[in-house]
Amino acid sequence: MDYYRTYTEINLGAIRRNAEAIKAYAGKRLIAVVKADAYGHGVIRVTEALRSVADMFAVATIEEGVALRQAGIREPMLVLFSSLPEQAVQIVEYELTPTIGDWEFANRLNEIASSTVHVHININTGMNRSGVHWTEATQFLNRLKMLDRLEVAGLFTHLATADEVDKRYVSVQLERFSSVLEKISDGSELIHAANSAAALAIPESHFDAVRPGLSLYGIYPASEKPIALEPALTWKTRIGWIGFISEAEGVSYGLTYKASHQARVAMVQVGYCDGYPLALSNVGEVLIGGMRRPIIGRICMDVSVVRLEPTDNVSIGDEVVLIGKQGDAEITVDELAHHTGTISYEILTQIGKRVKRIFND
Ligand SMILES: *Cc1c(COP(=O)(O)O)cnc(C)c1O
Repeated sequence: MDYYRTYTEINLGAIRRNAEAIKAYAGKRLIAVVKADAYGHGVIRVTEALRSVADMFAVATIEEGVALRQAGIREPMLVLFSSLPEQAVQIVEYELTPTIGDWEFANRLNEIASSTVHVHININTGMNRSGVHWTEATQFLNRLKMLDRLEVAGLFTHLATADEVDKRYVSVQLERFSSVLEKISDGSELIHAANSAAALAIPESHFDAVRPGLSLYGIYPASEKPIALEPALTWKTRIGWIGFISEAEGVSYGLTYKASHQARVAMVQVGYCDGYPLALSNVGEVLIGGMRRPIIGRICMDVSVVRLEPTDNVSIGDEVVLIGKQGDAEITVDELAHHTGTISYEILTQIGKRVKRIFND
């Protein structure tokens, strides 16, 4: 096997088991969200691994859908954000399922289609970033009937606060959605609303299908944990240099860390260019030999520095875990997000192009 300075190990079996567990828990169909390179996990291999369990896949952009088609993925593929009329031709050419949220795009799609195109309609019930406003949905659907090549195969909405403890706004959105469905659904469409947080905590949002992303990869979006999920990603790097600093010496750009006594330090081969957040400077920890060791000084583009203990028995090339388990110790995605004032979604999706993905079944 090739040798890499930094790499993630992706446990495809864990992703499949998570998907099966979520699908069984909801007892509905599964639309597996694999946008953003499957949340940084590697979309082609993840999609292939989920073939047996997902009823449909969802990506964010038409480009992502096209890339999957070019990789030979033939499964139904919903594009969650499709609104540029100029891209309608790609929907048809690559047999993607577009989301309709405005008239312009729908009209262009109908113009260029040579046969029936199945579409899903996004109803804006209060997320207020896309979709047809719920008070105009009936009118919109009636107008859409004029476009004879479009067939409404799905109706969905997206919840703004499903991961919060207070579920009152979720109820407001679900009531708006249900009132629209009563008027426009003929019972044939696939109805869906639940992201991971809703799939795990709000049964009333499950309708015909759940639409999780984050939880497929084994990360919980909120405090509710009704089923056991396995994190699928481990991020590793290696020690690239070992040195000493004497008392009062600083480390890395700006010398933001000052040694209070002589210390052994190690350079680890990961930097902010790899998506290891700059904000972990002087804050983060890594695992070396099954022990937590602190990041000292500013994280650089390509490398970072950690402080070793005098007793650490380490050599150049030794494995360093940034996310995941080593021995009995574990660093979670949530821990990195917490340290850097962001969310797990951002940590995962920022893992960079230089980080090799290695897949295990
Ligand atoms: C990203 C996204 C999802 C998945 O959300 P998670 O919180 O990752 O489960 C579902 N639906 C839409 C419309 C999305 O944009």
